[in-house]
Amino acid sequence: MKRDVMSVRLWLPRIEVLGVVADTPGELVVRVRSSVRRPCCPDCGTPSGQAHDRRGNKVRDLEVSGRPTTLVWERRRMVCGPCGRRFAEEHPAFEGRVTARLARRLVQDARAMTVNAAAKRHRLSWRMVNALVVAYAGLVAGHRRRRRCRVLLVDETSIRKRHRYVTVLVNGDTGEVLAMVPHRSEAALSGFLAAQGHRWQKGVKVVVSDGSAAYAAAIAKRLGHARHILDRFHVIRWFAAGLTAVRRDVQRRPEGSKPAFDPAVFRARFLLMRRPDTLDADERSRLDALFEAHPRLKAAWEALGELHGLYLAKDRNGALEALDRFADIYGTGDIPEFSDVVDTFLAWHPQILDWHQAGRPSNGRIEGTNNLLQVLRRKAHGFTNYTNFEASGLLLT
Ligand SMILES: [Zn+2]
Repeated sequence: MKRDVMSVRLWLPRIEVLGVVADTPGELVVRVRSSVRRPCCPDCGTPSGQAHDRRGNKVRDLEVSGRPTTLVWERRRMVCGPCGRRFAEEHPAFEGRVTARLARRLVQDARAMTVNAAAKRHRLSWRMVNALVVAYAGLVAGHRRRRRCRVLLVDETSIRKRHRYVTVLVNGDTGEVLAMVPHRSEAALSGFLAAQGHRWQKGVKVVVSDGSAAYAAAIAKRLGHARHILDRFHVIRWFAAGLTAVRRDVQRRPEGSKPAFDPAVFRARFLLMRRPDTLDADERSRLDALFEAHPRLKAAWEALGELHGLYLAKDRNGALEALDRFADIYGTGDIPEFSDVVDTFLAWHPQILDWHQAGRPSNGRIEGTNNLLQVLRRKAHGFTNYTNFEASGLLLT
């Protein structure tokens, strides 16, 4: 007599166990059927009692005691009396070839690890788990896109490094990815916005994008009523390029000298980019020594500080004052390298200066989203397919 026998409930509502088919250390197979007596016709809704056939459908369930568990569902094929329609019965516990509860677990696991790891853990094929994850992500996307989006973030990322780009759309209030659309063109963004419909478009009050002209054109076309803001981190990178250009020129030494650049200036390249309020006394005096030797470097550093002041200011007026101070330094400081910065600023000044009035939308939400995009970029090396990449983006947020 075996001494490790017990009975276990399946805990699936409206399912009856008919018998155990196999119970080995490697697997558990259980024959089940629906306890719903009269399934309804999908056409006319009439409950039908006539089964003309039964077939055993194999459905994978959560593991029992660590063993892969398969339910053999005796699925009835019915004939509807009034309309004559033949149909296979449905059951809420089953979603195709897995139980609904296993499908939920697989999606959770795919979120925490990868589709591949989730498939391995449950000993299912990658194809099957991926299909479930993509279907679930589709439901999530539909739900998110129906809701109003007040602040829309538009960014780009690549599915493969430096080629095959996607446009990422994020709800700036919730941080949730709404969609990842192939390509980073005007047509890609414009097509998504058009598909969202007029009412949804009207609900968007602020759009944040990078400095792409393609995105700006799509935004002007579809979201002309909204305030268009440039992503703060993007603008700060543009500004910093002016200081970098000056630093490169200042550190250059006459041809033939060794080393070819002034090591004191070169070594300070990261220090120069730091926010002044984060410098300690020692770092501050290193900078002061450099500035004494290179007044152009000092002017460039101060100019960049005023540009940062655009964002540190309390409001638009404060930003305009910082801009005035920048203009003074630019006018007298002998830093022609900032002319590109000035041109870019002139081209985009409404999208930069409206930042305060748009509710200062460059905050933790965008940083969080940028971090998410980093994760996606890393994960992207495992993707060859836009749909799977989008599903991953939807489930990560
Ligand atoms: Zn019918």
